[in-house]
Amino acid sequence: MITFSNVDVVYPNGFKGLSGVNLEIAKGEFVAIVGLSGAGKSTLIRTVNGLVPYTEGSLTVNGSLVDPRSKTKLRRVRSKVGMIFQSFNLVNRVSVLNNVLLGRSSMTSTLRSLLGWYREEEKELAFECLERVGIVDKAYNRASALSGGQQQRVAIARVLAQQPEVILADEPVASLDPPTAHKVMRDLRRIQQEDGITCVVNMHHLDLARAYADRVIGMRGGEVVFDGPVAEATDAV
Ligand code: ADP
Ligand code: ADP
Repeated sequence: MITFSNVDVVYPNGFKGLSGVNLEIAKGEFVAIVGLSGAGKSTLIRTVNGLVPYTEGSLTVNGSLVDPRSKTKLRRVRSKVGMIFQSFNLVNRVSVLNNVLLGRSSMTSTLRSLLGWYREEEKELAFECLERVGIVDKAYNRASALSGGQQQRVAIARVLAQQPEVILADEPVASLDPPTAHKVMRDLRRIQQEDGITCVVNMHHLDLARAYADRVIGMRGGEVVFDGPVAEATDAV
C-alpha cells in the first residue's frame, strides 16, 4: 500500500529530515511511528501525501508514485489519503456537520457546504461518519464548542467521509488527557479493523502503540531505527 525506497528529505535550509528510509506498509495495517520530538515522525508521515516533498528515492501509495512536482498526481494520491493532526484543524466557526462535509474537499463542494447546499446523500454519509465516532448528537454544534477529544473525533469523521484507503495521523492524541487519548485511539483502531483502512499514527509513547498498533516503526535522527511487530518493540525504540 505504501512503499518507501531509499527516501531522503532535505529541507530548503539544508537540514536532513529523513535519511535512507525503506518501508513497506501493507493494506489494512495499523502502524505506530514512535520516537522523540524531532526524530522525523512528522516529516515521514507528511511525505506520504506530499505535504513534505522528498528529495531522493521513490515513494508509492497503492502503486501510484507520489510525485511532489505533479499537482495532478498529488491530487490523486490525496483523494485516497486522509490526514488528522494534533491540533484537530477544524473550522471553528462552522458546525460539526459542515466540518465533515468540508472534508470532501473539492472547491464546489466547499462552497456548497459553506452555503448549506449539499446533496442529501452527502449529508447522510456525514451523519453516518459522525455516528461511527459517537458524536452525531453534536452535529449542529459549532466545532469550537466541543472538547479536544470530541474535536479530534470530528476530524476522524471528516477523514472517514472522504472514504480514504489510508489515514495518516500526526500525534493525534498528544494534546489529550490519557482517558480521552485512549478513546480516540480506540476509534481509529475500530475503523481500521472494520473498514480495512491502513492507519499510520505518530506518537510519543510506546504504551499507546502496544495497546493499539500491529507494528512499530521507531525513528531517531531522521532514520528508521526499529521496525517490527509490537510485541518485539522495547523501550529502546
Ligand atoms: P517529529 O515529528 O518526530 O517531532 P519532525 O519530522 O517534525 O519530527 O522534525 C524532524 C526534524 O526536522 C527536526 O529537527 C525539525 O526541526 C526539522 N524540520 C521540520 N520541518 C522543517 C522545515 N520545514 N525546515 C527545516 N527543518 C525542519
Ligand atoms: P509539531 O511538533 O506540532 O509537528 P513543529 O513545531 O515541529 O510542530 O513544526 C511546526 C512547523 O514548523 C512545521 O510546518 C515544520 O515543518 C516547521 N518547522 C519545524 N522545525 C523547523 C525548522 N528547524 N526550520 C523551519 N521550519 C521548521
